[in-house]
Amino acid sequence: MAMSKRYEMTIGGETVAADEYMDIRNPANTEEVVGQTPVATTAHLEQAIDAASTAFESWKHSSEEERIDACNTMAKICTDNAEELAALLTQEQGKPLSSPIGSQFELGGCGAWAGHTAGLSLPEKLIEDSGDRHVVQQRVPLGVVASITPWNFPLMIAIWHIVPGIRTGNTVVIKPSPFTPLSTLRMVELFNEALPPGLVNVISGGDELGAELTNHSGISKIVFTGSIATGKKVMASAAKGVVPVTLELGGNDAGIMLPGTDPAQFGEGLFFGSMFNSGQTCGALKRLYVHEDDLDATVQTLSGFAANVPVGDGMEESSVLGPLQNEQQFKRVIELVEDAKANGGTCITGGEPMGGPNYLYPVTIVTGISEGVRLVDEEQFGPVLPIMTYTDIDDAIDRANGTEFGLDASVWGTDADECAKVAARLEAGTVFVNKHAEIAPHVPFGGIKCSGLGVEFSEEGLAAYTSIKIINKAA
Ligand code: NAD
Repeated sequence: MAMSKRYEMTIGGETVAADEYMDIRNPANTEEVVGQTPVATTAHLEQAIDAASTAFESWKHSSEEERIDACNTMAKICTDNAEELAALLTQEQGKPLSSPIGSQFELGGCGAWAGHTAGLSLPEKLIEDSGDRHVVQQRVPLGVVASITPWNFPLMIAIWHIVPGIRTGNTVVIKPSPFTPLSTLRMVELFNEALPPGLVNVISGGDELGAELTNHSGISKIVFTGSIATGKKVMASAAKGVVPVTLELGGNDAGIMLPGTDPAQFGEGLFFGSMFNSGQTCGALKRLYVHEDDLDATVQTLSGFAANVPVGDGMEESSVLGPLQNEQQFKRVIELVEDAKANGGTCITGGEPMGGPNYLYPVTIVTGISEGVRLVDEEQFGPVLPIMTYTDIDDAIDRANGTEFGLDASVWGTDADECAKVAARLEAGTVFVNKHAEIAPHVPFGGIKCSGLGVEFSEEGLAAYTSIKIINKAA
C-alpha cells in the first residue's frame, strides 16, 4: 500500500505549501489515499502568474541553445525519474504500470515528446529581398502560457503543453486535473531542480481554479485539453483578452470496416484502438460500423480479445487494462450501458461493474443499438464499444460524419483504393487506415468541428506558441 504523502506546488522555483489539502484516492482501491494535493487560493494563482511574468522578461531573450537545453533537460528528467513518476501515475490515475499501454509507456512518451520538441525550430523566414524592401518574418514568444490538463494522460499532456511553450521562449503556469494532480506536481518539482526559476510553475485546485487562470489578464496564451463543454467556456474566457487558444477536446471517433473484411486480420488494432487506457482516450475508436454480414465474425473476434485481456489493479503485473479513473466517470459509463440495454442493446461481454471498492469496469461490447442511443451519440470514455451494422457504405459514412465531433476516424479493409475513397469522405482531423489512435511527435494532431481548435506536435503545433513578427525595412 502506498504511503499517503503531501505534494506541493512549485512557484518561481520555490516549493509552496497551501492552507488546505485534498485527498487523492487510488481508483483501483478507493479506500487507499495515494497522497494529498494542495488547494490553491487566488493569492497562489497571482503569485504563479507574477513568477511566470518575471521569468518571461529574461526567458524571452534566451538563445535557441538555452531553449533546446531546457527542453532536453525536461526530457532527461522524465527518463531518469520514470520509475517514480510511473508508479505515482498508476496509483492516482489507475492505468497499469507495466502494460505496454500503461504508465511506463506514458513516461516513455513524455521523454520522446520533450526530446523531439527540443529539436524543432521555427527559423526566421526571408519574405522579400528586393529593390523595394527587405522583409523578414520572425516567430516570437507570447508570454505566460496557461496550461490546463485532463486526467486521462496527465503527464504526457502536461509535456505536450509545457515543452513547446518553453521551446519558443514562453513561461508556463500549469493546472492539472483535480483528479490526477500528484504526478504533475512531482514532475514540475523535479523540473525546477534544473530549470531557471519561474519557467514552469504548477498550482493545483478544483475546476474554479482553471476558470480563474483562464480569465486572468496576465496570461498570453491558453492551451487546454479536456471536454468540449469546458473547452467552450475556456474559449469564451480567451475572447476577453483576445488571447490565442489551442483546444484539444473530446472525440467520438467512428471506424468503418469495408464490406467483406475479415475482422480477425485487424482484431488487435480494432480492440486496442478502442480499449487503449480503458477507452479513456480522446482519440480512441468509440463507434464501429460493420457490414451486416460481417457482424457475427467481428463480435467473435473482439469478444475473444475481451476474454483474454486482464482488467485489474494497475500495480498488478498481469493487468493490461486498469479501472476507470474517477467516480463520476465510473457512474457515467454504468449509466450509458444501462441506457443502451434499455434501448435494445445486448452486452456480448461485460455490462456490469466488477465490484469492490474500486472503479473497475470490464470490456463491454454492445450490439443492437444505433444512432439516437446515448452510447452511440455521446463520448463514453470507457471500455465500452458499440458495434453497429450497415448495408450501404454511403450510409455508414453519413452516420460516421453525422456528429458534432471530429477528432479522428478510421477505415479498415484490404482494398487500398476503397479505403482511400472512404478516408477522403470522413470528416476528422486524422483519418487512419487499418489502425486507430496512433500519435507521434512529428505528426500534427488536432480535431475539427467541436473536437478542437488548432493542432499540437510538429512545427505546426510549435507555431501556436508564437506570434508572427514582421521586420519590414526600406531598401
Ligand atoms: P474536463 O473538461 O472536465 O476538465 C479538464 C480540465 O479543465 C481540468 O483540469 C478541470 O479542472 C479544468 N476545468 C474545469 N472547468 C473549467 C473552467 N470552467 N475553466 C477552465 N478550466 C476548467 O475534462 P476531463 O473530464 O478532465 O477530461 C476528459 C475529456 O478530455 C474528454 O472529453 C476527452 O476526450 C478530452 N481529451 C481530449 C484530448 C485531445 O487531445 N483532444 C486529450 C485528452 C482528453
